[in-house]
Amino acid sequence: LADLTLRTVGTGTAFPDGVRTPTCNLIQYDGFSLVVDLGSGSLHKLARLGLDPRTISAVCITHAHFDHLTDLLPLLFALNVPGYERADDTPLTLVMSAETHRLLEGARAVFTDWLQPPPNKVREIVLQPGDSLELGPFSVETAFPHHTSSSLGYRFTLQAGRRPVLAIPGDSGPCDALSVLCRDADVAIMECSMPDSWPLPAHMTPGSLLDLAHAADIRHLLVTHRYPMVMGVDLPQLFEEAGRRMSLPDDMDEFTIPVH
Ligand SMILES: [Zn+2]
Ligand SMILES: [Zn+2]
Repeated sequence: LADLTLRTVGTGTAFPDGVRTPTCNLIQYDGFSLVVDLGSGSLHKLARLGLDPRTISAVCITHAHFDHLTDLLPLLFALNVPGYERADDTPLTLVMSAETHRLLEGARAVFTDWLQPPPNKVREIVLQPGDSLELGPFSVETAFPHHTSSSLGYRFTLQAGRRPVLAIPGDSGPCDALSVLCRDADVAIMECSMPDSWPLPAHMTPGSLLDLAHAADIRHLLVTHRYPMVMGVDLPQLFEEAGRRMSLPDDMDEFTIPVH
């Protein structure tokens, strides 16, 4: 069995820092390229990785904040460029919540047909939290993280019950949905926006992340989406003392995850 690869394409936040671009993750397995979130700058970085926008298999959006979806519009625009049409018979699949889809429809009302690729080139799937979906080689489960009304968190499992299990809930504060999505995950990508000295209900702190890692028994936690005020916290030290495995990936870091 081939390995699965995961790239943290963009690990930044809504606040530009000149180093990291906003959220984007790329999961590739058996020729299927799944992008989770498309913050600004993501399309260019994916192209730098050799991923032609016409060959993206699916995009899942976690919520309708700008640091998670703005490059969805340039992606749809790119698929309209004459001479660069998507050749694949299989349409690009877009997955999002109903509220995120309403925002996309609103953008279409402004930008007209330029955000509407040719027929049969894109299929849009609107999910309610709790819905599940078969998406290429993945079984997708969803839940409603505590962040914003458009939120849709994801848990990806290779079909036929094979591991790994990848959890990408998107932005969230502590809540039951995180435990459901991250339960026994081989890899979970989690935000850590705020320090424990300044907790916000809709975001994680180092302390709440550690609690989640214990409660859900996450095997390897990848911590991204850190605002400048939490960058000084020594997360590796905190997790090492607690005996939990974690990493602080940079933009474009690659992880190879065995399939079994
Ligand atoms: Zn957000
Ligand atoms: Zn965010």
